[in-house]
Amino acid sequence: MLRRVKLLIRGVVQGVGFRPFVYNLANELELKGFVLNNSSGVLVDIEGKSENLKLFMEKLQSQKPKNSIIESVEQECDCEPLHRKEFIIKDSIEESDRCALMPTDKAICPECLKELKDSSNRRYNYPFINCIDYGPRYTIIKKLPYDRVNTSMDSFTMCHECQEEYHNPLDRRFHAQPNSCSKCGPKLTLLRNNGTALIEGEKSIEITAKMIKKGEIVAIKGMGGFHLVCDASKANVVQKLRDKKKRPTKPFAVMFKSFADIMKCSSIQECEAELINSSERPIVLVEKKKPHRLEKFCIASELIAPNNTKMGVFLPYTPIHILLLEKLNTPIVCTSANISDESIIADSKGVLEKLQDVATYVLDYDRKIINPCDDSVVDVFDGEVKMVRRARGYAPANIKLPIKSTKKILALGANQKNTIAIGFEDNTLISPHIGDIDNLDTYSYFEQNVRLFGSVYDFTPEVVVCDAHPEYASTKYAKTLGKEILQVYHHHAHTLSVLAENGALETKVLGVSWDGSGYGEDGTIWGGEFLEVDGVECKRIGHFRKFKLLGGNRAIKEPRRSALGLLYEIYGDEAFSLGLPFLKSFKEDELEALQKMCKSDINSTQTSSVGRLFDAIAAILEVLYISSYEGEAGVCLEYEAASECDEVYGFELKDGVIDTKQIVEGVIADRGDVPKAAAKFMNTLASIAVAIAKNRGLPMALSGGVFLNGYLLKAIKKEANKEGVEYLINKRVPSGDGGISLGQIAYAALKYK
Ligand code: ZN
Ligand code: FE
Repeated sequence: MLRRVKLLIRGVVQGVGFRPFVYNLANELELKGFVLNNSSGVLVDIEGKSENLKLFMEKLQSQKPKNSIIESVEQECDCEPLHRKEFIIKDSIEESDRCALMPTDKAICPECLKELKDSSNRRYNYPFINCIDYGPRYTIIKKLPYDRVNTSMDSFTMCHECQEEYHNPLDRRFHAQPNSCSKCGPKLTLLRNNGTALIEGEKSIEITAKMIKKGEIVAIKGMGGFHLVCDASKANVVQKLRDKKKRPTKPFAVMFKSFADIMKCSSIQECEAELINSSERPIVLVEKKKPHRLEKFCIASELIAPNNTKMGVFLPYTPIHILLLEKLNTPIVCTSANISDESIIADSKGVLEKLQDVATYVLDYDRKIINPCDDSVVDVFDGEVKMVRRARGYAPANIKLPIKSTKKILALGANQKNTIAIGFEDNTLISPHIGDIDNLDTYSYFEQNVRLFGSVYDFTPEVVVCDAHPEYASTKYAKTLGKEILQVYHHHAHTLSVLAENGALETKVLGVSWDGSGYGEDGTIWGGEFLEVDGVECKRIGHFRKFKLLGGNRAIKEPRRSALGLLYEIYGDEAFSLGLPFLKSFKEDELEALQKMCKSDINSTQTSSVGRLFDAIAAILEVLYISSYEGEAGVCLEYEAASECDEVYGFELKDGVIDTKQIVEGVIADRGDVPKAAAKFMNTLASIAVAIAKNRGLPMALSGGVFLNGYLLKAIKKEANKEGVEYLINKRVPSGDGGISLGQIAYAALKYK
């Protein structure tokens, strides 16, 4: 019997070889009709024998392309058969209801890799080789549907051979939008840092390798932006990069030629290996091996990730990186080309303007990056991925909520480590990591992302969600949009982000929300919070004893100021005569000014932040006086902590306030044994959280930047298991402020479900 059905397939079904797959499957089963991309997904109109149609439906699910995700298949059955003679792929049609998901960028596939190295292949050593499985996607897309004309490949006309592949349904490059070859595709140029071209074409890679070997710093255009690259085995060059980038201690990532090379530098767990080799190719934080083992392999690891138990490693993900590393035979430091915390630079003009003093050469190419995108950074906890920075490969993949919103939502995130998100029904599409939007350049990148998500999805929000902080750039921006605004308190949003990604939005929990800073209900800076969260309801039931942040923002950069503020809170003027060594790091007049600040309310606010408590402890223990990146105190204390120590300090909980006096006294007494003091301090934090959750009879939702700390998480897990307390953590979005936009979407979705 002849039957005809229409199917609308939603999910990640564009840019992943879905139409060719449908085409081949239809022909295999002698079915007729057509397939096309529309703005909602893939539309299939198909007819033939009913048993073959049944098989088609089965194989659609079981044999779908490996990078595709089918979220739903809408069926219109029993349509009148049209007795068509063939199955074809039709041109895309545009509609206003856009739900198709933007495909994410994928690392080079094994087959392309084989061709790249095959001297008889026409794409031998071609630095822009790609296929339907692999290549740039999100970074080159201007709008949906994902067709070549809507990408930055629109300026390259395919040669005859490429055309043939593109139109041949049996070819790997059938409808591969960035398809090209050395005759018709993008080209490399190696520039001097004065902007003049040194050499063009594939030879540029060889010269770049030579320069790196000589100890030069080269800016190299990757998939989502430029990296600053240098030889990871040369300590003096790595130091030069640190000096020039004004980045004294923040860790760099290292790109290795092969997985085998990574194994020489680290002991890798199974889950880490999977992530390193995955098609997302994130930077994976792995344990550093002891320095003497590293020396054999010549990595300047202590300069690459100072005072850090871990090190960020990744494998090459574009052919350019692969070809370069083959010529080099040494791992390379690969750090985003930008100045401190600005967004990643994506064109050579920007590199030449801003990094002329840092990079001596610039390896550029002429395919435009439409949407700049940083490398993703992931960690592993308990055998599972834990997102640190969500960007290339992961963004803007959909995070499904367990509830459906009746309104279209735009969430603007926090100020630091900003991400934005849009939400409709049960979908949440989160932008890649944007950065600290206090900075002008990053702020315009933030605006660009809001515009991009609006235009790609033809999305006009009905509700805009932002932080409660009146001074956040995102809050001010929200107020210019003329829409209904929901302001969500920072730590409430953190907690909701955990619940959202764990499908537990309607579970009542104890939100343990610990970070550096967030605007609190009383106008002070919160960050050591215990919140009873029940959906949109949030009640603060406890917090750490507050202390003064001496000199506002300067206190955030100088852990020694937090130490003084904390000690003054506990000991009053006596703090100055405790004879603690960190006090000597201040100049005498500075110390006098700080003492005045302690006594008055000038230039100082109160905080309950655990991030600042970490700072204070790190300074008292003489581990860190001045920090050069956010969270450094936590990283240093984790590095110092003795893993075998189970001891804890005492603490007191009175009227919802956790008194830190006994912790501070204990740390001062244990000062001579830093590993023990650091471990005891973090063990204590774990036991405080678990004790309060147990007392309330609630599961914990742990969120906030403090929970990037692996030691602390392990300590909490151990204590929670012992006490029978359940806990949820962030995995798919960062526990830091990069996850705030998801929490904000969740808030609005709960309000308008
Ligand atoms: Zn070609
Ligand atoms: Fe936060």
